[in-house]
Amino acid sequence: MKLDSYWLDTSTRFAGVAQGPVEGRVDVAVIGAGFTGLSAALALARRGASVAVLEAGQVAAGASGRNGGHVNNGTAHDYAGLADKLGQEHALSLYRAFDDAVDTVERIVREEQIACDFRRSGKIKLAAKPAHYESIARGFERLNRECDPETELLPRERVREEIGSDAFHGALLYRKSAMMHMGKFGAGLADAATRAGARIFEQAGVTGLTRLAGAAHRVTTARGTLEAGQVLVATGPSREGPFAWFRRRVVPVGSFIVVTEPLSPAQLDSIMPTRRTATTTQHIGNYFRISPDDRLIWGGRARFAFSNPTEDSRSGEVLREQLMAVFPQLAGVRFDYCWGGLVDITEDRLPRAGEHDGLFYAMGLSGHGAQMSVHLGQQMARVMGGEAEANPFRKLPWRALPFNWGTPWFLPLVGAYYRYKDRVG
Ligand SMILES: Cc1cc2nc3c(=O)[nH]c(=O)nc-3n(C[C@H](O)[C@H](O)[C@H](O)COP(=O)(O)OP(=O)(O)OC[C@H]3O[C@@H](n4cnc5c(N)ncnc54)[C@H](O)[C@@H]3O)c2cc1C
Repeated sequence: MKLDSYWLDTSTRFAGVAQGPVEGRVDVAVIGAGFTGLSAALALARRGASVAVLEAGQVAAGASGRNGGHVNNGTAHDYAGLADKLGQEHALSLYRAFDDAVDTVERIVREEQIACDFRRSGKIKLAAKPAHYESIARGFERLNRECDPETELLPRERVREEIGSDAFHGALLYRKSAMMHMGKFGAGLADAATRAGARIFEQAGVTGLTRLAGAAHRVTTARGTLEAGQVLVATGPSREGPFAWFRRRVVPVGSFIVVTEPLSPAQLDSIMPTRRTATTTQHIGNYFRISPDDRLIWGGRARFAFSNPTEDSRSGEVLREQLMAVFPQLAGVRFDYCWGGLVDITEDRLPRAGEHDGLFYAMGLSGHGAQMSVHLGQQMARVMGGEAEANPFRKLPWRALPFNWGTPWFLPLVGAYYRYKDRVG
């Protein structure tokens, strides 16, 4: 079994990396070459800006190349709860931003002709307990009427139309959701940004930032120093670099994935006849889909641990047990991949974007960001051009999380709390 991302292992690495030192002056320095940074670089370069993307590691090899492959619409929260908390208008605008985000991915795939198996598959949200289904059903009428008429409530007796398992008590179908191959999309997005004129540097982690006279910045990297008129921080869950203000507001949490060997058509029909993306409703739940080459890609939080090869394989064991409990018909299948990655979680699990202290930023996508990263990159290019209202999250305040500095030592406690809630809730 490979302890590596299936997406990165089955796609061709981006070949257009900028050579030579990081030096000179650019209109915009984008820090981080995940989907957020690459999408912003594409949009900024298309608007005529000179752009340098500064990536500490490798293009799209952070969360963007290590995720579950879902491009889902809908907020991570239930819409009715969000509307009660923020008011209908604000909640609706956030929900629509996620619809727009899926549209943005589809548009870029089409315009840039990125062969990444993008497909509007729809998503099925599966109630793991009777009470979870009752809660979904209570909020459904409002969700369907106010913001997403393409949703459908499926009672328990209809779940088997979608999922070959008796583990679930009902479901909610979102028809606008999609899926794609994340490795192929990442390399394609980097190609597109380069074609538009952006330069992308790898192994160029940003270690220092200094404000210069006027609005400019000196950006120090592992490969040299440049001056930039504007800076976009698109570093996801990273704890690296001079970004303490952001680190206080984002908690990096491990999420893990296992991938089976290719399955037969009969096996696929027996587990996911409609081939959608699927998520379950527990606090420590699962997300899964079928790959373009017929494997089951099964993810979950598994354990509140950081991702490294040891933790990944331990978490892989937990995930395999969870998978077999849902799909016992897959007993005996081989597992070919297992990996983990970090999710950048905010206190309310809503993304944040904007400007702080002269730095533009987009992050905190809270595990629901494969689509929103791409969208926010595009929107932040507009914000940096003076269109503040292009930022869908501009009205959300962002306070520091108490005790959140250095290593998030409190994660095991959070994990224990959520496991307890899943047992009793
Ligand atoms: C296991 C897992 C499963 C997931 N599943 C899904 C899913 O199915 N659907 C979904 O919507 N979302 C999912 N997500 C979340 C989604 O992948 C992320 O929200 C999204 O990719 C974030 O993109 P990003 O560009 O903001 O961050 P990243 O992709 O993490 O990119 C940030 C980049 O910044 C670089 N960087 C960091 N610090 C510095 C520095 N100092 N200098 C220079 N560069 C730096 C990093 O090396 C990295 O490449 C998942 C995440 C994980 C980890």
